Amino acid sequence: MRRRRFNQTLAKGIGGATLISAMPLSCAMGSQQKNKLGIALVGLGSYSTYQLAPALQQSEYCYLAGVVTGTPAKENIWAKKYNIPQKNIYNYQNFDTIANNEDIDVVYVVLPNSMHAEFSIRAARAGKHVICEKPMALNVAECDEIIQACKEAGVKLGMGYRLHSEPYTQQIKTFVQENTFGNPLFVNAEAAYISRGNPDQWRLDIKRSGGGALMNMGVYSIQSAIYGCGMNPVSVSAQEFSTRPEYFKETDETITAQFEFPNGTVGQIMTSHNASANRLYVSCSRGWMELQPANSYGPLKGNTSKGPVSFPHESQQKLQMDDFSKHILKGAPNLAPGEMGKRDMIIVEAIYASIASGGKKQNLNLGSLGLV
Ligand code: NAD
Repeated sequence: MRRRRFNQTLAKGIGGATLISAMPLSCAMGSQQKNKLGIALVGLGSYSTYQLAPALQQSEYCYLAGVVTGTPAKENIWAKKYNIPQKNIYNYQNFDTIANNEDIDVVYVVLPNSMHAEFSIRAARAGKHVICEKPMALNVAECDEIIQACKEAGVKLGMGYRLHSEPYTQQIKTFVQENTFGNPLFVNAEAAYISRGNPDQWRLDIKRSGGGALMNMGVYSIQSAIYGCGMNPVSVSAQEFSTRPEYFKETDETITAQFEFPNGTVGQIMTSHNASANRLYVSCSRGWMELQPANSYGPLKGNTSKGPVSFPHESQQKLQMDDFSKHILKGAPNLAPGEMGKRDMIIVEAIYASIASGGKKQNLNLGSLGLV
C-alpha cells in the first residue's frame, strides 16, 4: 500500500484556495433559459486541446465560452484560436471569480486527477454546473465531497464518461436491457496501452495520478464490464503484475481483476500501461456480443452472434457534452452522474485493497449506486 493514494485529502487544495461562500451572482440556475450553454475548460492539456475544444466547435447545445489555465502563454493562443474574450479567461488563482460571469454555465475539469476534487468543488461553489473527468478523484471520500458540494450549490454534476453517449456502447446497453442474446454469463473487458513517454509525467506520479493503469484505463474496463452485463458487481478479487519497475516506480503497471455479479455472471478485467488492449466481450445464454475497439475515440466496431452492428461516426465528446447540456436545458437524463464516478472509485479502492491483501475477495456493497 506504500504507493497508493488513500492519504491525500482535500484539505490542502481546498484550504489553500480562496473560496467564496456567498451565493454567486451568476448562479448556473439561470442557464435553463439559454439555447446553448457556455462551457469553460479547466486545464488545457492534450485532452482539452485535441478532443474537447474541437468537439465544442460541433456541439449543438453548448460552446466553448471560456478557459482556465495555469500557463499564461496559452491564454492568447486559445483566445485567438477560439475567439474567447479576455474576461472569460481565468487562471487557477482568480478562478473563483468565474461566479460573476454569466457567459459560463458549465465548468469542465480536465486536470490531473489530484486536482479534480478541488476544482470541481470550487466550480460548484461558484454556482457552475460541473463536468469532472475520469477518474472522478483520488478516493471515495473526495467523490463524496464533490457530490455534496454540487448538491449544496444546486448545480448538476456529470462525469466525462463519453462512451455513455456513444452509439455502439448504447447499443450494447440496449441489447442487455432487452435480453437480445439471453442472460450474460461471462464478461471480459480490457483497456490498456503501452506507456513509453516522459518518466516525469503526472500519470506516473502517485501524488498527482492517485494510481497507474487502474486509475487511468482501468476505469474503462470497470465501466465496460458493468454495462456489458447490466449489473453492478458484488465482489472483486485482483492481482497486480510488474515487469518494468524502473519505469513504473510508483504506479501500477498491469492489473487483472475478477468480478462476481448478483446472478452468477462472471467478469474478468485487465488494464495495463504496458500492453495494448481495447475490447469488451460478453458471452450470453443465446449468443455473444463484442466491441473491439471498445473504448477509444472511435469509430468503435461492434460484432455479435447475429452479425455486425454499424453506426455513423460522430465525435464522442460532442455527443457527451451535448447530452449533459440537454440534461441541464431540457431535463434529459444525466447519462453519467457523479454517483457513477463514485461507484467506480469504490470498485477501484476494492481492487487496490484486494491486491494489498494478496488477492483476497473484497465484497462490494453498491446497492444504492445502481447505475449501469
Ligand atoms: P495532460 O497532461 O495533457 O494535461 C494536463 C493539464 O493540466 C495541462 O494543461 C497542465 O498544464 C495542467 N496542469 C496543472 N497543474 C498540473 C500539475 N501539477 N501537473 C501536471 N499538469 C498540470 O493530461 P490530459 O491527457 O489532458 O488529462 C487530463 C484529465 O483528463 C485526466 O484526468 C485524464 O484522466 C482525463 N482524460 C480523459 C479522457 C477521456 O477520454 N475521457 C482522455 C484523456 C484524458
